[in-house]
Amino acid sequence: MKKTIAVLPGDGVGKEVTKGAVEVLKAVANCFDHEFEFTYGLVGGEAIDKKGMPFPEATAEMCQQADAVLLGAVGGPKWDSNPPHLRPEKGLLAMRKALDVYANLRPVSFSPSLIDASPLKREYVEGVDFIIVRELLGGLYFGEPRGRNVEQGEETAVDTLVYKRSEIERIITTAFEIASKRKKKVTSVDKANVLESSRLWREVAEEVAKKYPDVTLDHMLVDSAAMQLIRNPKQFDVVVTENMFGDILSDEASVLTGSLGMLPSASLSMAGPSLYEPIHGSAPDIAGQNKANPIAAVLSAAMMLRHSFQMEEEARVIEKAVEQVLSAGYRTADLSVGGGHFISTAKMVEEIIDAIVDDSAISKIMTCYS
Ligand code: NAD
Repeated sequence: MKKTIAVLPGDGVGKEVTKGAVEVLKAVANCFDHEFEFTYGLVGGEAIDKKGMPFPEATAEMCQQADAVLLGAVGGPKWDSNPPHLRPEKGLLAMRKALDVYANLRPVSFSPSLIDASPLKREYVEGVDFIIVRELLGGLYFGEPRGRNVEQGEETAVDTLVYKRSEIERIITTAFEIASKRKKKVTSVDKANVLESSRLWREVAEEVAKKYPDVTLDHMLVDSAAMQLIRNPKQFDVVVTENMFGDILSDEASVLTGSLGMLPSASLSMAGPSLYEPIHGSAPDIAGQNKANPIAAVLSAAMMLRHSFQMEEEARVIEKAVEQVLSAGYRTADLSVGGGHFISTAKMVEEIIDAIVDDSAISKIMTCYS
């Protein structure tokens, strides 16, 4: 199968981890006789430096022409004091809007060999396996009016939390579709005791639930959800929530697994190319040191194969290879509990590729003899 993948390495460790993910994708293409063509574009701080804007038109066009987009991360101290329209993160929001990626999926599950890297006790995290479905194009991050004013001599800032019924309906439907293929439980997170937008959210969730009689729907207030993620994370299957609540809760959930460097994400579009990226940022503190954990980016590539290209077997081969390498004891610095021996970004990628090649060689031999 032939596919074009737009690669946007971005800033900081984004460059290092996407390089690793591309190498893994090339290895998969080789083993499974696919043809992946990679096109490269600028986004974030580097795009500001070279093109004067965080999401240049050429990058937007390149993404639209691709079958899927692989992003590293954007940002860094160099651009922190830029005006709002020249911030790297502005490029991210513009890209999400341009690609119309409304549903951000963040799976949270554990490699059995990493349980001890979690800050929680083993009995709380063993068996945790849920997915956060975050609405990505509405709410506070996009609502108008927004901005700063001076009113009656005092400086004022405003952001607007607004949702249309149709926006809520499509994200809740996505959550139910996912839950119907998993443990059949949706937890919808809102702040319906205070916010009008959350009351509409809750009503729509109830309406959508009627179409999925075999899936249970629970509602949880966001403050309680923040606590329950730590107290009893095993209770969750699919958590669906609005943009800002999802942003915060998914970072909280990522800590359960021991490192931000482990968690992938997919941002799905209804029609065009979808976007895949690790959930971490550009990690300026370790950028350029060959120290970053590439696993979140590699697992994001696996999500791309599964969700955009329907290559389930290929996605599983990557996930299995990652598990194998971790259970063999290989760790990047972020995972080395107590400062034990660790390997570089490049070495981790090499180990994952070796495991993929070995696995597919074995499957080919098994197919010949079966
Ligand atoms: P961060 O995720 O970059 O880093 C937080 C901590 O996690 C750091 O200690 C970092 O070293 C560590 N870390 C992150 N990724 C890692 C990896 N792959 N391997 C090992 N350790 C890893 O968050 P931050 O420090 O708050 O933000 C840094 C910059 O990234 C900021 O400019 C921020 O705006 C940007 N950011 C971008 C995105 C994105 O592009 N999607 C997301 C979050 C933050």
